[in-house]
Amino acid sequence: MTSDVVALLRDALGTRVDTTPASLDAARADKSGHAASGTPLAVVHARTVDDVQQTMRIATATATPVVTRGAGTGLAGGANTGTGEIALSVRAMDRILEVRADDLLAVVEPGILNADLNTALAPHGLWWAPDPASRAISTVGGNIATGAGGLLCAKYGVVRDAVLGLDVVLADGRLVRLGHRTVKGVTGLDLTSLLIGSEGTLGVVVGATLKLRRLVPGEVCTIAAVFPDVRSAAEASAAVTATGAQPAIMELMDAASLAAVHALLSLPAPTPGAAQLTIQTDGPVAASEAELIADVLRTRGGTVAVSHDREEGERLLAIRRSMHPAMETLGTTLIEDVSVPRSALPAMFDEIARIERAYGLVIPVVAHAGDGNLHPNFVFPGPDVPPAVWDAAGELFRAALDLGGTLTGEHGVGVLKRRWLADELGDDQWQLQRQIKAVFDPLGILNPGKVFTD
Ligand SMILES: Cc1cc2nc3c(=O)[nH]c(=O)nc-3n(C[C@H](O)[C@H](O)[C@H](O)COP(=O)(O)OP(=O)(O)OC[C@H]3O[C@@H](n4cnc5c(N)ncnc54)[C@H](O)[C@@H]3O)c2cc1C
Repeated sequence: MTSDVVALLRDALGTRVDTTPASLDAARADKSGHAASGTPLAVVHARTVDDVQQTMRIATATATPVVTRGAGTGLAGGANTGTGEIALSVRAMDRILEVRADDLLAVVEPGILNADLNTALAPHGLWWAPDPASRAISTVGGNIATGAGGLLCAKYGVVRDAVLGLDVVLADGRLVRLGHRTVKGVTGLDLTSLLIGSEGTLGVVVGATLKLRRLVPGEVCTIAAVFPDVRSAAEASAAVTATGAQPAIMELMDAASLAAVHALLSLPAPTPGAAQLTIQTDGPVAASEAELIADVLRTRGGTVAVSHDREEGERLLAIRRSMHPAMETLGTTLIEDVSVPRSALPAMFDEIARIERAYGLVIPVVAHAGDGNLHPNFVFPGPDVPPAVWDAAGELFRAALDLGGTLTGEHGVGVLKRRWLADELGDDQWQLQRQIKAVFDPLGILNPGKVFTD
């Protein structure tokens, strides 16, 4: 049966079917630090929509599971492909099909990297706002499938706010075009939104009509504020939000994160216990908002420096962007992604401190403080998550839910959070979501075992 499927794929797709051991092994994992067990049947390197349709027709005819992969930078294990599964890579489908400055939209294939898209849009005076810290290495299709966020989303929105329509190949190989090219559009159910963040469980995104913004040249101000402890930094960030000022970026790093990044970048060691807020304002009111925010931060006990220099701003943000590599130097990392209402950020840090004490752990945390999204990092030796770390992560999720938050703000459920999904959704919504999944995927071949479990 296994060899039959590979033979069928080879007959239809020729050299696009790859069974070299290195490619099969690479398809087993993403960047979550976790890999699927066993080895996939084959990696299909799709170059066209027709390649994807042919793959899905064969998968349906043979009831073979398919895991769609972009760049494999996901942090939830969503693209991990294991025994008996086809890894369907759309990375090579990377063309920009259309850019319309007048309509503020672009039509792209899913495999283009986020940063490459923005490089190509810049000469048109345009940009696509979603900016995951992985923008240089992750695909637009992957960003859509995970509902990605990033540093700028408090002001400029997440992927869901930046997609007008999607072309999707269904489990049986049919191609559907969802959404619209218009600013408004409410015909029928909003299946575009349903597909965003569906992690390859409902269909394969083969094209996207993206909502663009104009690049507005102007001043950018960057504020770095150091606080004696993480709670006062979190309180200060909530106070900034409460002023109504709208920073483009507001990132918080706790003491353990700062120590790890400073060590990685060979910077002088930070003050023990101190936490840092890095805030950027932009647009016509950048300078006045920076002044207002700096005042609020000083009132809250911060030591504040304001820079009007773009390059200096980038240097300060590079510290934040180095968090992931810094964690990798410490061991295997389970990066969590809870999100809480912004006013609950200080309380969430209290909960993390409680969990650290209860489990004898140090949990370095960075937060997109502008939107209440925290990334607590559990670091441990060896490849497998120790049971105590899972227990601590479970407490973290419960604490976030109790504060009115969510399990995942931007990374998705994948395999790593699926056991807690029903806790957040409740029984009725969980059943409803599984029924919707069954409508799109009656044979259960689209990324099985991810997000939804029995
Ligand atoms: C250093 C680093 C920093 C990061 N920072 C951020 C951040 O700031 N914000 C953030 O949100 N994420 C971040 N991430 C996580 C990751 O980059 C995002 O989740 C990204 O959107 C994944 O894109 P990808 O192309 O790598 O997708 P993959 O990892 O290949 O796939 C992710 C999921 O999407 C599905 N999928 C991929 N392409 C398609 C498609 N065309 N059709 C249907 N399903 C598809 C896969 O099946 C899988 O479930 C970071 C990761 C790293 C390593």
